[in-house]
Amino acid sequence: MNATQLQDFKDLLSVPSKTYKEEGMVKYITSVLDNIEGVSYYLDHKMNVYATKGKLPEGKYYPMFIAHTDTVHELQDKIVVKEEYLRKPNTFGKSYDDTEYLSLKGYLEDGTPTGIGGDDKVGIFIAIELLKTLNYCKVGLFVSEETGCIGSSQCDLSFLEDVGYAIQFDCPGDHLITEYCSGVQLYQKNGEFINKILPIFSKAMGCDIDQQSHPYTDVSQIKLKGDFSCINFSCGYYNMHTSKEFVVVQDVENAFNSALNMVNELGFELYEFLGPNDTYENDYDDDDLYTFNSTIWDNIEMEYTNDEFTIEDHRTDNFISLDYEQTVELYLFLKEQLNDKY
Ligand SMILES: [Zn+2]
Repeated sequence: MNATQLQDFKDLLSVPSKTYKEEGMVKYITSVLDNIEGVSYYLDHKMNVYATKGKLPEGKYYPMFIAHTDTVHELQDKIVVKEEYLRKPNTFGKSYDDTEYLSLKGYLEDGTPTGIGGDDKVGIFIAIELLKTLNYCKVGLFVSEETGCIGSSQCDLSFLEDVGYAIQFDCPGDHLITEYCSGVQLYQKNGEFINKILPIFSKAMGCDIDQQSHPYTDVSQIKLKGDFSCINFSCGYYNMHTSKEFVVVQDVENAFNSALNMVNELGFELYEFLGPNDTYENDYDDDDLYTFNSTIWDNIEMEYTNDEFTIEDHRTDNFISLDYEQTVELYLFLKEQLNDKY
């Protein structure tokens, strides 16, 4: 990342944003978009931002990049962004050695730590940098993801008509992708789309990739509306949803580079994927999020035996097994999250 990019990144990270209080962030984004040559954009009634770079010929499809404009942290007047060298904490089952990485962390003016909101300001940063770098792409920045994908569930469908595939950067750490999201399969297992891009992402991040189920993010809503493949990747934020959150600069740069290489590899074609719509009513109603979620609850089974705790999703056959020690770890993690929030 060059000095200008790093400064732009810090500027973006210093913009406060909280679910339903996202005006400041959207204003910041539009002021940046105003200064990127060749980009046109519009906002819808929810304040979702839709940007397009370049005009592709008929029969070609845009890569679309997705992020969300809210964070879970309380809205502050000002976030002071500091550079620090930090160790990566255990993240979704991956532990790290004691290497310290150049990181950005958020503080209030009195020095109290505050969540920097890398979830998902990193995704916004990557999307904006791609608009600057690529000749052709689309970007959708959706409001209020953290309370149930409020913005993306009402995405303007006409914007998706010439999209060939959608990529979101909204996973913590450096080693995760989302294959299933809210019970929605995002791409075809072992299909052309994933087989082309997984090695690119793995190489860029410098590690093996774990295919995980992510609770929810916008890409699941977009997948329900489009016939193209979608995916969600790690982008280098750690300790998400806590005041100790930080972002690792090198991870963000690697994720950005992986996106450039993916577009090079995938090109401006349609990577059709119809799968998930088969498992849902085709007249799925956006306003019916509660019913949608309840169908997921119906399919989740938890079992606790003497030495193992298992959560299984019958819809996808995904399951997680935790031994006693891991269950304790999970308890401590949840306790920390709740203490931080309440
Ligand atoms: Zn997020």
